[in-house]
Amino acid sequence: MRNLIALIACWCAAHMVSVASAADSTYASPNAIRFRASLDGIRPVSPMKVGGGNASSSRYGKDDEKGDGKTKAGGKPRPLTEREKEEQAEAELQARIAEKLAAMKAQQAARAAAAAKAKKEADARAKALALMPPPRANGTVWGYEGEIGPANWHKINSDWIKCSMGNRQSPIDIRDGMKVELEQIAFDYHPSAFNVQDNGHTVQVTMGGGNFITVGNRAYELVQFHFHRPSEERINGKGFEMVVHLVHKDGEGRYAVLALLLERGKPQPAIQTVWNNLPLEKGDVSAPAIVLDPNDLLPQRRDYYTYMGSLTTPPCTENVLWLVMKEPVQASPAQMALFSRLYPLNARPIQPTSGRMIKESM
Ligand SMILES: [Zn+2]
Repeated sequence: MRNLIALIACWCAAHMVSVASAADSTYASPNAIRFRASLDGIRPVSPMKVGGGNASSSRYGKDDEKGDGKTKAGGKPRPLTEREKEEQAEAELQARIAEKLAAMKAQQAARAAAAAKAKKEADARAKALALMPPPRANGTVWGYEGEIGPANWHKINSDWIKCSMGNRQSPIDIRDGMKVELEQIAFDYHPSAFNVQDNGHTVQVTMGGGNFITVGNRAYELVQFHFHRPSEERINGKGFEMVVHLVHKDGEGRYAVLALLLERGKPQPAIQTVWNNLPLEKGDVSAPAIVLDPNDLLPQRRDYYTYMGSLTTPPCTENVLWLVMKEPVQASPAQMALFSRLYPLNARPIQPTSGRMIKESM
């Protein structure tokens, strides 16, 4: 209690000093206002209000005169007027609003920065995705019509891209060949063991080893032969009913394919041997205990066309030496009909020649 009285007395003394100084000048100095405010425990009053001089002193004077005894005799400090309370509340409100606004601005800035960062990351991801190669395809099912037909082979398996992007593809329409003295193809074929398979794309005959052709000072070994209907090759625009492809490979894995065009005529004995040994089921392999002489397939004349091309089935590998015999080989209508029951159409369409050189025997 004694302390409280001392505090109030102190406040009164200071109050008097401040009133006096305010009365001395029409404008109370800011320092005096701050001083008084700190003593009053309230916020600074604006100079205009204090600067009233008389009004201010009369207000304080009035308080003093009015003195209910408590002020001077150890009463409580003067309570804030309603107006002061309002001003104080308003100031506090404004301070809170300013604080809130600053916080909101900071939040907005943080959100904008986060959005910009997210957009940058999304852009980077999209860019990386655009640069990525398309997902790899590894299908193996292909055919000659529809979705799995030649126009879509490159989409089925990523390793078959040459089927659409190659520029030395087969088959081609063989025309405008350069007539030259082509070297004779040296045939070194023998009666050999063989097996027959309907592989889902054609009838294929796999040969035992030891059958070679030599051309361009290079020996290629016969691996297998198979059939297409109609012929894949054309000669000056003319197609044939069927073709036999004899696929050879050299020691470095390079291909040489000899094409024998088939036309209707007398029965072909080697083809008959193959038909006789067709397995009953697709995919099955028949390995007869007899031999087959590939020489029996060849025409009398050995003139030929030659050009560089590709395998005509996936993966459409290029750098294949093509040797197309000029003289067609005959097969009987019944032999042709038998194959057409299995494969009415298994020929890849003609591919662009793209200015490739074609040579032919004179
Ligand atoms: Zn073929």
